[in-house]
Amino acid sequence: MNILITGGAGFVGSHLSEELLKRGHLVHIIDDLSTGSIKNVEHLKSHPRFRYAIASIFDSGVLAELVDWAEAVYHLAAAVGVRLIVEDPVRTIETNVHGTETVLKLASKKKRRVILTSTSEVYGKASSRKAFREDQDIIFGNTSKARWSYACSKAIDEFLALAYWKQKGVPTTIVRLFNTVGPRQTGQYGMVIPNLVSQALKGKPMTVFGTGRQTRCFAMVTEVVTAMADLLECKDAYGLVANIGSNEEVSILELARRIKTLTKSKSKIVLVPYDEAYESGFEDMAHRVPDLGRIRGLIGYRHKTTLNEIIRSVIDYQRSFLPR
Ligand code: UDP
Repeated sequence: MNILITGGAGFVGSHLSEELLKRGHLVHIIDDLSTGSIKNVEHLKSHPRFRYAIASIFDSGVLAELVDWAEAVYHLAAAVGVRLIVEDPVRTIETNVHGTETVLKLASKKKRRVILTSTSEVYGKASSRKAFREDQDIIFGNTSKARWSYACSKAIDEFLALAYWKQKGVPTTIVRLFNTVGPRQTGQYGMVIPNLVSQALKGKPMTVFGTGRQTRCFAMVTEVVTAMADLLECKDAYGLVANIGSNEEVSILELARRIKTLTKSKSKIVLVPYDEAYESGFEDMAHRVPDLGRIRGLIGYRHKTTLNEIIRSVIDYQRSFLPR
């Protein structure tokens, strides 16, 4: 198939490109390199079935041509990372809402298959310890807190993608990705594992925000993109939202301790209040665990990589850049 990936030079997009090329597809990416990097796809540039355009999805001429060429579109171009969102909410909202709107409008002309990446942020403030199910109700914080603009903008994207399926028959699927990690992810936008690994390898204080008792489940990017590729021809997934992630839950403090052990670092683990780490009044999610029943039913998904293996892959990746 001819496949377009928006945001294809990003961390997830570059791994997805590899996976789709492995399956014999023709892959064209479009990326404005705002949070992505050409280095992420350097090794693919010479691949005979890989093409790239360094352009914004707001460059409607370029995007229209690419969507017209594609039989399927993976829409990954979005503002990501809690820090970026808090610092630049205008960009977050505009990129996420207008970008998705444009992609869906273009894809609807020939009813192209669209797989939209969303996020577990969409689950908002859910306070229960239960695993998050796609059909549960959602509560967001108030609009003075920038963090929620990300969740809200992605929720609008989801509504729109589902509306295109219901009203216009565009075969859309939404994947809600839970904390995805692996080689090529940068700590620059605040993601915890690359951040803590980098601090540990440099002997700097390892910053754990809040009490460190908040929990997350970290998924290996290669498994996440395999699931995304499996969904491409899964007709049962049309018009559905599906969680993708791992359900191995860990507190951030325990995560920092493991990273310290695995890197054999002498760094100190320090607790940093949220107000200092992000902004005054910042609200974090206490727990975030995906219910994986739906994705398992659709494609037989099971997440197999352990957290220690994931951490090691990030350590190895970062070590490859350190001066010897
Ligand atoms: N976090 C941390 N230290 C860091 C970066 C993040 O303790 O250097 C915390 C963050 O407050 C959150 C968790 O780690 O509770 C995961 O953060 P991340 O930004 O990776 O993803 P999120 O789950 O917030 O989308």
